[in-house]
Amino acid sequence: MKILMYNTVAEELPYVKDWSAKTGHEVVNLFDPLDTENVSMAKGYDAVSTQQTTVMPAPIYSKLAQFGIKQIALRQVGYDVFDLPAAFENNIRLSNVAAYSPRAIAEYTLTQLMNILRNNKKFDRAMATGDYTWAAGGRAREIYQMTVALIGVGRIGSSFAQMLHALGAKVLAVDPIYRAQNEAFVEYTTLDDALSRANVISFHTPLNSQTKGMADKSFFDKIQPGTIMLNMARGEIVDMAILEKSLLSGHLYGAAFDVTPNENEFMDKKQSINELPENIQRLVQLDNFYLSPHIAFYTNTAIKNMVEMALNDAVTIVNGGYTENEILR
Ligand code: NAD
Repeated sequence: MKILMYNTVAEELPYVKDWSAKTGHEVVNLFDPLDTENVSMAKGYDAVSTQQTTVMPAPIYSKLAQFGIKQIALRQVGYDVFDLPAAFENNIRLSNVAAYSPRAIAEYTLTQLMNILRNNKKFDRAMATGDYTWAAGGRAREIYQMTVALIGVGRIGSSFAQMLHALGAKVLAVDPIYRAQNEAFVEYTTLDDALSRANVISFHTPLNSQTKGMADKSFFDKIQPGTIMLNMARGEIVDMAILEKSLLSGHLYGAAFDVTPNENEFMDKKQSINELPENIQRLVQLDNFYLSPHIAFYTNTAIKNMVEMALNDAVTIVNGGYTENEILR
């Protein structure tokens, strides 16, 4: 089978090469996103794959159908880049990679929790000034003493729950979906109960109408003084003004965020700190706040899985089979 892979990034290439060697399918790489101009390059191929943030408008699907191509395999989660009605009208089957490595995000969340518990930012900054005392960061708490509330216990939350449980922490789960297999690691409870008992609160929900602005003033009023907050999910879940106030007052002991509201405006750009929103400029100066540029997922395994899962789905669909990653009408 011949597959045309759009918008390939350099770090995908070794995995593409390995996959081709393993499966015997030929993959040709283009380094631009799929658009109405370069869709004609797909003529003569059996399948296409892309990962991109630019939308693929209607004419793309009719062109692919004309070339006898039956699918587009996306190498990412977010499929809002497709024009679904136009794709389905042209019988183009679509797939995404819904879970490329939940463990990657869980491991990063654990890393940041450990950083906060051990006051690493304070000690690092003090050490850079030659301060060899223990006063800079203060005494740490140990993870087995923590009660961690997970808001959202799906793929990522469940993986994080297993790690926390293995380390001896108590894990509280808040999720409208009950998963019996998690009973070995968590105690399911209500949001209010979890907030009143937790030393650590970690968000692992999608952004939706219930989670947008979920951590508002009344949410913060319900948490224990000295709580740690972790947000690797979506920036818009937390009211950033209240977060800042809570970090400054000590109501929150510390927080680590891998996401911020409107991050698409500055993601992937190397701008000067003054160009970032003013609250972010202030927050990153705080000793008890860790901000990272949406890297929780960014591991070898995740990149490998994005490539391999998408290409496997392309082959399955072209062969008339079914994959759990198919986006159904
Ligand atoms: P998932 O769909 O497997 O799990 C999400 C869980 O959240 C579900 O069990 C759902 O029932 C629950 N949920 C929904 N609304 C809720 C609410 N109001 N209260 C409590 N629980 C609620 O998703 P996942 O793969 O675990 O990913 C979770 C989120 O992590 C994604 O939606 C995305 O925002 C974020 N994410 C971040 C990165 C990163 O690199 N930082 C990477 C991937 C995903």
